[in-house]
Amino acid sequence: MNRSFIIAKFGGTSVADYPAMVNSANIVIANPNVKVVVLSASAGVTNLLVALAEGRTPDIRQQHLAKIKQIQDNILEHLPENPQLQADIDNILANIASLSEAASLATSPALTDELVSHGEIMSSRLFVEILKQLHYDAIWFDVRKVMRTDDKFGKAIPKIEEIKQLCCAHLKSLDILSLDQKGIVVTQGFIGSESSGKTTTLGRGGSDYTAALLGEALNATQIDIWTDVAGIYTTDPRIAPAAKRIDEISFAEAAEMATFGAKVLHPATLVPAVRSNIPVFVGSSKAPQAGGTMVYNTGSITSTLPPFRALALRRKQTLLTLTSLNMLYAQGFLANVFAILAKHNISVDLVTTSEVSVALTIDTTGTNTDGNSLLTKALFDELSTVCHVDVQEDLALVAIIGNNITSTKGVAKEVFGALDDFCIRLCCYGASTHNACFLVQNSDADAIIKLLHHHIFEK
Ligand code: ADP
Ligand code: ASP
Ligand code: MG
Repeated sequence: MNRSFIIAKFGGTSVADYPAMVNSANIVIANPNVKVVVLSASAGVTNLLVALAEGRTPDIRQQHLAKIKQIQDNILEHLPENPQLQADIDNILANIASLSEAASLATSPALTDELVSHGEIMSSRLFVEILKQLHYDAIWFDVRKVMRTDDKFGKAIPKIEEIKQLCCAHLKSLDILSLDQKGIVVTQGFIGSESSGKTTTLGRGGSDYTAALLGEALNATQIDIWTDVAGIYTTDPRIAPAAKRIDEISFAEAAEMATFGAKVLHPATLVPAVRSNIPVFVGSSKAPQAGGTMVYNTGSITSTLPPFRALALRRKQTLLTLTSLNMLYAQGFLANVFAILAKHNISVDLVTTSEVSVALTIDTTGTNTDGNSLLTKALFDELSTVCHVDVQEDLALVAIIGNNITSTKGVAKEVFGALDDFCIRLCCYGASTHNACFLVQNSDADAIIKLLHHHIFEK
């Protein structure tokens, strides 16, 4: 595939309702190089499905099911009568109802993934019909045939080589993908399957990652991420309306932004893009003419790389402080603690240590992993055999992303000098030349982002 071959991903708001889907379909139709479309569930549907998977009373279940049906019906009513489509959607809704009843009796991560996958299945099915209504040839493809993962339900790890082989076997050979043919394949983001065929998910917001994985497996020349903002900004424009679009940004900077909470890209999205050097474009499906951000390797960037590029914010951080006198001069204390955390499926995020304590935050980005469900009694019982454990919630992580941060003079003064009125709970600086980050009270987070943005980017 030498000519341009683009994978385009549309997020939840870009397929939220009929007008949004038509906007997105028109973007696809306008660019014949788009050959594969990856879709999220319509906005709000995944949250409702996750809530159903947590097991609810019959009343609440009915309310959630009715809301999901309403979202789909609002799209269906604009399409020409199609008994097959209607029957398919009815079937999917019936499946959701029976799986949520099962979840109310006994839920599990596998059941959650099976249940939440229906959001992407429905949006992709409807999108194919919208393209057909606009006289564009499209086929629906079940991504689970190619998106092979391990069986860590809720945050499954993709198996890169198998995905490539499966894409060769099931996708690349499709006539519709030949470059001179008009038409596209429409598939789902976020979901995959483990080796025995059970449905898995890649973690919340994982559709961006799917697009990048498929881009890599199909040798795409570009991955387009269409969302509700016209690119990657100097910070979340919802928090600081003065945020400015960054027209071009390096893989390393964008990856740090995504890791530290810039929701516009799922944190893993850039891993396949970097590995295979595929440029990523981010733009708004509501305003495609507004342009967007190009993310590519440093060599392609025409402007200079600034020391301060952006601010990112990650909410709902839980801090564990583990204290033990045995840590002093001891060997293996940290190894013990990390082994216990790994055994209880806790992935550690930030770490700082002192003489007799270690403070760490935990990763809660899986489909069915919030801080509370991860911090089980069994975990505390086992940790308390080696240390005292203190838990602090309601924290947020603020990150400053840039270049050569550790070798630029005055960074600490520039950042912390502006924060006289706030408490900093924990600080990580030096592991990467691309970021400095610190934990603050959640209630201070927005004010800190606004203040720092003004101080660093608006002067
Ligand atoms: P989608 O459903 O299309 O995947 P998301 O809600 O996951 O969309 O991501 C888009 C949102 O990311 C924006 O609405 C914005 O609020 C948020 N965001 C956070 N940080 C940034 C940033 N630096 N630049 C742009 N958007 C950001
Ligand atoms: N629908 C999934 C979610 O809401 C995946 C995605 O939108 O990227 O998390
Ligand atoms: Mg997203």
